[in-house]
Amino acid sequence: MLETDIIILGAGPSGLSTAYFLCSPGVVIVEKDERAGGLMKTDYYDNSYFDKTGHLMHLRTDELRKVIENELNVPLLKIRRNSKIFSHSTFTEYPFQINLYGLPREIVARCLRDFIRARMNKKWKKYKSFRDFIYGEFGEGIADEFLIPYNSKIWTVAPEEMSAGFCEKYIPVPNIEDVIDGALGIPKTDVGYNSSFYYPQREGIESIIRGFLRKIPSEVIYKTEPVRINIKKQLVYLSNNTVYRYKYLVSTIPLNRFVSLIEDAPGNVLDAGKKLVNTEVCYFNIITRRVSDNIPHWVYLPEKDIPFYRIGSYSAFDRSLTKDDCNTFYLEYSYRSGTGCDSGNLERRIPHLLKRLGFIREDADIINIKPFFINCAYVIFDRNYRKSTSLIFEYLAKNKVYSIGRYGRWEYSAMQDAIIYGRDTAADILRRKRVEKEKKR
Ligand SMILES: Cc1cc2nc3c(=O)[nH]c(=O)nc-3n(C[C@H](O)[C@H](O)[C@H](O)COP(=O)(O)OP(=O)(O)OC[C@H]3O[C@@H](n4cnc5c(N)ncnc54)[C@H](O)[C@@H]3O)c2cc1C
Repeated sequence: MLETDIIILGAGPSGLSTAYFLCSPGVVIVEKDERAGGLMKTDYYDNSYFDKTGHLMHLRTDELRKVIENELNVPLLKIRRNSKIFSHSTFTEYPFQINLYGLPREIVARCLRDFIRARMNKKWKKYKSFRDFIYGEFGEGIADEFLIPYNSKIWTVAPEEMSAGFCEKYIPVPNIEDVIDGALGIPKTDVGYNSSFYYPQREGIESIIRGFLRKIPSEVIYKTEPVRINIKKQLVYLSNNTVYRYKYLVSTIPLNRFVSLIEDAPGNVLDAGKKLVNTEVCYFNIITRRVSDNIPHWVYLPEKDIPFYRIGSYSAFDRSLTKDDCNTFYLEYSYRSGTGCDSGNLERRIPHLLKRLGFIREDADIINIKPFFINCAYVIFDRNYRKSTSLIFEYLAKNKVYSIGRYGRWEYSAMQDAIIYGRDTAADILRRKRVEKEKKR
């Protein structure tokens, strides 16, 4: 049996950030893949860089920018966001609710009237479902034209099946003045709507992962995963037939998988883990001839006859990500985990869509299309969500086990949150170690 002070499951941004901020030997990281990075990996082929769909950094404070640039030595570009919505054969600005200008006049009028009506007759104080939230706050026009069709595609469940809890944080509700200005095309400052983002100057988002790896003294065991865990005995059994006794356990792997591995977990915790559901994403990396330079960073696709929910362009983020005479894209399709997806059928629809968007002129402009899959992409905030996650986190907290990151916390969060989770977890472990040391004196 091997001994380690701290064992971290998963070498994605949250696992690596934990190891970085711990900055101590005696840390073992177990990673099932052959490379670190999780969803912050970048594939390179045909002289082009492709992230696992668009991975842009929206940094809330300057602290993380300084960590990435000054400590990890990864210079960042600050890019002004150019994101659009494609509906009614036209591109409008994002977010939809404050940028109605450009849509057919009768659509603008309906959205405006219904928004004002919703404001005047606010029915609910607390919303029961995501659907109630959307109709209650935005009215039928904005709901039917964008929020309901787009969100139904990405979350794969009807909005009435989703709890309202998460959405207030992610879907900003504008004031009437902003909606009216947006309907008339009056420019605004974009406050509160992530008007710019950061991205590495070279070689895609994975360069931040390489920055972490350069600085971390910990051992990473690749192509290995836990096969069972005993929390009381503080043991992790690995697929390479080794067993680690640990003092501190940090998991960043999907929460439902983690719980299923705990052999001494109570039955109700194991049952709660089985109720956690997520979407999978099939995405296509596309290389085309450089037919147009008028390509937004990403475009939301709410129209019902388009199966994909979003298309983005790496070459629009930064020209150095592909060859001079090419453009590169990612195109995303979401489906409920376990239901499967016919990627061949989806792929056949791509040329028509690219022509409709004006990104190519003819089918022959497409050089290469490749499908990829993300097995755990968006966690679904269904009616079981709150009860199941509360039960699991109560049990893990009682046993002083950390489960962090987007999938460890089973939530909708971003790369910066993953890095912050790592920083805060490391601080908590170091604090506990100090307390234990003082007790021994
Ligand atoms: C489609 C999509 C687009 C996104 N776009 C953005 C964006 O633009 N900006 C942004 O900030 N965020 C974005 N995100 C979110 C971002 O990817 C996550 O917040 C971030 O990757 C979370 O990091 P993590 O380390 O918690 O998890 P992960 O990146 O998933 O890393 C977890 C690691 O654990 C490993 N692992 C999993 N299971 C096991 C196991 N059983 N044993 C051992 N190892 C295991 C994995 O291989 C992986 O290396 C996006 C996410 C998706 C799905």
